[in-house]
Amino acid sequence: MEAARRATGQVTGQSEIPGSLTIISLGYRARCTRDGCADLGRLILRYADAGGRPMSNSAFCHAHARVRLARERAAGVKVYDDRLTSKGPF
Ligand SMILES: [Zn+2]
Repeated sequence: MEAARRATGQVTGQSEIPGSLTIISLGYRARCTRDGCADLGRLILRYADAGGRPMSNSAFCHAHARVRLARERAAGVKVYDDRLTSKGPF
């Protein structure tokens, strides 16, 4: 019947929406940046703008990273998982 054609990259007039984010393994000790969370950060979510320029890095524990990722995906942010390509202790 109807092709499910979905427009990605919605334009909203709101505050800056990151174009993409990359999941990176956290290689040093840092706390989850979520308020009230005392867990160690495990992952870095690196945000980039629509042009691919890095905007910010945030460290999260697994639980909060998962919550954040689900929300960003729902918002249309492209999510790349860099953990798959960079094996090893680095
Ligand atoms: Zn946390």
